[in-house]
Amino acid sequence: MKEAKIFGLSIAAVTMQEAVAAAKRMIENGRPSLIVTANAEMLMRATHDEELYRVLEGADIVVPDGAGTVWAAHTLGYEMPERVAGFDLVQELMRLAPAQGWRIYLFGSAPGVAEAAKAEAERLYPGIAICGVRNGFFTEEDEPEIVAEIKEAKPHIFLAALGVPKQEKWLDAHMEEIGAPLSIGVGGTLDVMAGVMKRAPLWMQKAKLEWLFRGLMQPKRAGRLLALPKFVMKVYAEKAGTK
Ligand code: UDP
Repeated sequence: MKEAKIFGLSIAAVTMQEAVAAAKRMIENGRPSLIVTANAEMLMRATHDEELYRVLEGADIVVPDGAGTVWAAHTLGYEMPERVAGFDLVQELMRLAPAQGWRIYLFGSAPGVAEAAKAEAERLYPGIAICGVRNGFFTEEDEPEIVAEIKEAKPHIFLAALGVPKQEKWLDAHMEEIGAPLSIGVGGTLDVMAGVMKRAPLWMQKAKLEWLFRGLMQPKRAGRLLALPKFVMKVYAEKAGTK
């Protein structure tokens, strides 16, 4: 599989179709695998969060979730065909799930959101087996029970929506025990499916402005936009260093 190196991390240079094919192989293989969907903010964070960096290094595939990741790969001289957004990857896998007989577990987001996302998945993808749902607000003491519950549901695909970097770290700690063949950290995907959060309109996605839309819609995240100029500077510094 072709890849780009950004800050020392391998990012798969794949199309959505290739990412879906890779996910399918992981599910068929059965061994617990992890797909991380990395945007600029996550990559930037990984440069100063050692645990996150280690999870990204150990992931089976890191896909370029965001215009910033694709831009960085191109700037550093790598081919990268397109953005593979986590939300879109999840929709592709859900679309295949009924025919493949894949069971999917939805974990994370505020109480009620995973239930609403399940209803939406059942509406969009008739026959889909959502084998369990649970919200993402819990204490450490709740974890053994949560893990046991997920394990019992035997999902093929385990989606964790706890936000970055919590979901990546949580998956790294628990995915082996849970034993699902494929785990993915999916951020705001359940919120969007449940209709409690909007995705950027298509024209903004195409103009590579989804990050701006999210910053404006969720003022709480506006501060996080500050990571982006730092990301740009760091990519240019890396480029200068490789010359
Ligand atoms: N969330 C959660 N548990 C937590 C913190 C956050 O389930 O302890 C959920 C939150 O409700 C939201 C998602 O995680 O549904 C974070 O989504 P966001 O779009 O902020 O993801 P990020 O950009 O951080 O990946």
